[in-house]
Amino acid sequence: MPTSTAPARPTDPSNPSDPTMHPDLRSWLPSAHAPGSDFPIQNLPLGIALDQESEAVFVVVACGDHVIDLDMLVHAGALGNDETIEIAHSALHMANTNLLMAEPAVWRELRRRVQGWLLDGPPGGQSSRRLREKAARPMASVQMVEPCVVDNYTDFYASIHHARTVGAMFRPDNPLLPNYKHVPIGYHGRASSVVASGTPITRPMGQTKPEGQDSPIFGACKRLDYELELGVVIGKENALGTRVPIDEVDDSIFGFVLVNDWSARDIQAWEYQPLGPFLSKNFATSISPWIVTRQAIEPYRVPGPARQGDDPQPLEYLRGQAPWGLDINLEVLLTSSAMRAQGVEPMRVCRGNFLEMYWTVAQLIAHHTSNGCPLLAGDLLASGTISGPAPDSRGCLLERTWQGNGPDGKPLPRVPLALPTGESRTFLEDGDEVIMRAWCERPGAPRIGFGECRGIIQPAV
Ligand code: CA
Repeated sequence: MPTSTAPARPTDPSNPSDPTMHPDLRSWLPSAHAPGSDFPIQNLPLGIALDQESEAVFVVVACGDHVIDLDMLVHAGALGNDETIEIAHSALHMANTNLLMAEPAVWRELRRRVQGWLLDGPPGGQSSRRLREKAARPMASVQMVEPCVVDNYTDFYASIHHARTVGAMFRPDNPLLPNYKHVPIGYHGRASSVVASGTPITRPMGQTKPEGQDSPIFGACKRLDYELELGVVIGKENALGTRVPIDEVDDSIFGFVLVNDWSARDIQAWEYQPLGPFLSKNFATSISPWIVTRQAIEPYRVPGPARQGDDPQPLEYLRGQAPWGLDINLEVLLTSSAMRAQGVEPMRVCRGNFLEMYWTVAQLIAHHTSNGCPLLAGDLLASGTISGPAPDSRGCLLERTWQGNGPDGKPLPRVPLALPTGESRTFLEDGDEVIMRAWCERPGAPRIGFGECRGIIQPAV
C-alpha cells in the first residue's frame, strides 16, 4: 500500500522537509542559477534526449542549459553501487523512464545522488573533470523527445471557469451542468497521438455542419484551437480492482508536464452529442519534454481551492487532508509566420495560475481509481483547459475570443485577437505557432520552470 508523506500544511520554502529543495543549494554549472533559469539544481526534471548524429536516446535530467546523462554517471560509478543503482541501471540502459517512474523510492534516491554529483565544489581528480565534460552536455546539442511512453491518456474538465464559459455559449440559462460540483468530469483520450513538443501539427480534416446549412460537409477544420492544460504523469501503479485513497496519492504522482490539447471546434460542435468528443480531440496532443517531478513542486503545494457559498462539500472519497493546490503560473504565446519573418516577438495571449482549478490533482486520481481502474506508470492525466475568471486568463481561443451572448441567447460575433503585424486571429491559421510555458516562484524558494510546449500548424493534407 502506498503511504502518505504529504505534510498537513504547506512547506516553509526556506526550510523544506526535503533537503534536495533547499534554496541555498548551488551547482558547478553556472547556468543553473542564472536569473530566470527554469532548471536550477533543485528542479532536475526527467527527460529523454536524442543524439541526432548517433541516433541514440538516453535518459537525462536538466540542469541549467545542460542535460545530464544518467546512464553515463551510473556506468562511471559516480552514483554508488548498490540495489538502488542496480534497479536504476536496467531502466537507464534501455532508456525506459517508465520503469524508473514506477519505483518512487528508487527515483527519490537517484535524484538525491545526481544532485550530489552536481553540487558546487572542485571535481575530485582528473577522471571526475572528464566525467563532468562528458556527462553534462549542452541542451542545444540534443533533441528532446517524448519523456516517457504514454499508454493511456485521460482528459479532465477541472476548471470551473472554463466549464462555465463554454457552458454559457451553448446553454446561456444553465451554463454549469448539475453534476459539475460533485464529480470530476473526464473522458478517455487517445494515447497514440500524444506527441513531443516541437512536433508539427497537421490541421485535421473532418465532418462539420456549417451554420445555416442543412447538411454536413467534409473538409479542413476551420476552427482550430489550443487548450492550455497541466498533465499529471503517473508513477507508482495501482492494481486492477484497487483504489488510491485521496491522502495516499503522493507516490502515484511522478510529476507534471505541460499539455496542449489541440482541438477542432467545428468538428467538436457537430460530433460531441451524445458521447462526447472524438475526432475533434485525438489528432494531436503535445506535451512538454521535461517531467517536473513531484519533489520539485513540493514547495508550491498549498491548500486547494475553498468551496464557496452554497457549493456542496465533495463526497468523502474526494475529501483529503493533504494540501494539493498547486501554485503554478502559466502562459500561452502565439506567433504567426509573418511575425517570425519580421522578427516580432511572440505575443502573450493568456496568463493564468493552476490555483484557479475547482478540482485538485489528488481528487482527479482518487476519482479515476475509485472504481478500481488501474493507472500505469507513464499514464497522462490532463487537467482540462486552465482558465481563470479574467478574460486574459482564458486558456483557449474558443473562450478568449468569445464576447458573451446577445439578447436572443446566441453568442455575439467573436472579437479576434489583434496581432502586432496587423493580422487578427479568431482561431489558429496555418503557420501559427503556439508556445506554452509554466513556472513556480516565491521569495525564499527555488524557481521551478517547466520549459516549453510548442507546436506549429501545418496545412491540412
Ligand atoms: Ca482538453
